[in-house]
Amino acid sequence: MPARVLRVVSHGGRVCGVEGIERGAGTRFRATAPLVIGADGRNSTIAQAVDAPYRRRGSASGAIVYGYFAGLPDDRYHWAYRPGATAGVVPTNDGLACVWAGTASTSFAEQRSVSLDPTFRSMLAAATPEVARSIGSASPVGTLRAYPGQGGWIRASAGPGWALVGDAAYFKDPITAHGITDALRDAELLARAVLDAPRTWHAQLDAIRDYERTRDRLSEPLFEITERIASYRWDLAELRGHLRELSKAMRPEVDALLQFDEMPAA
Ligand SMILES: Cc1cc2nc3c(=O)[nH]c(=O)nc-3n(C[C@H](O)[C@H](O)[C@H](O)COP(=O)(O)OP(=O)(O)OC[C@H]3O[C@@H](n4cnc5c(N)ncnc54)[C@H](O)[C@@H]3O)c2cc1C
Repeated sequence: MPARVLRVVSHGGRVCGVEGIERGAGTRFRATAPLVIGADGRNSTIAQAVDAPYRRRGSASGAIVYGYFAGLPDDRYHWAYRPGATAGVVPTNDGLACVWAGTASTSFAEQRSVSLDPTFRSMLAAATPEVARSIGSASPVGTLRAYPGQGGWIRASAGPGWALVGDAAYFKDPITAHGITDALRDAELLARAVLDAPRTWHAQLDAIRDYERTRDRLSEPLFEITERIASYRWDLAELRGHLRELSKAMRPEVDALLQFDEMPAA
């Protein structure tokens, strides 16, 4: 039964469970566990409940407007950058492609109109006139959606009886399209750390703190370079350098992921 967690339950300074409500039935429940993991996204209830401190706060943020369109090539991605403007076409299911256009949050706030459609089309044309022409005046399937942007963070993600993964723990601007990879990576790192450690209270706490250190080591370079790209304060030559740096920042992560293949989880 899907449920919404409302609060954490603690005992003696240590988190030992959650209270929540079942969706639909509306029944309240309490569940106990040796470890409560907040994998509950950007507005994490668990992170707020344990008051997980921010280790880093980002200042750059980009806005994205996106929709799904038919009739575009379904065999390739298209990614476009122009000063102050980005866009992409991502083929998806049902013959549709996700078409997105981005700019700095401040610029989006200035140009946003009541209807998203003209804003989307002018943002798209600024980044890639070819794609703007190829969708012409076609309507999206479903509605256009806007993400106005939000500064990133890295939070403390390990404490007595609790841990955080995914956006709850570490969020960066979506311009580098890497949040899903990092959320899955960190879920795997945490699961392995916990399963590999002896089942004593201290060993488990050490294990989740090790997870947090590995998470920081792998994430900080990605966080830094995402900040620079999401600032939109670059020309195309600088952007090329930033994208090379992004590739470099991914290498330690790729090495860590390859090690997962060599060491099956306990
Ligand atoms: C506009 C935009 C575009 C993006 N594009 C990309 C991309 O191209 N590639 C990429 O890799 N990443 C992208 N990302 C980032 C990516 O979406 C996130 O990094 C990723 O979804 C994080 O996963 P998560 O599981 O931590 O959080 P989420 O995907 O947010 O999942 C959290 C889950 O927890 C549930 N939840 C929340 N609160 C509670 C509660 N109190 N009780 C119970 N359940 C709860 C939510 O309902 C949700 O199901 C994009 C993000 C945005 C905003």
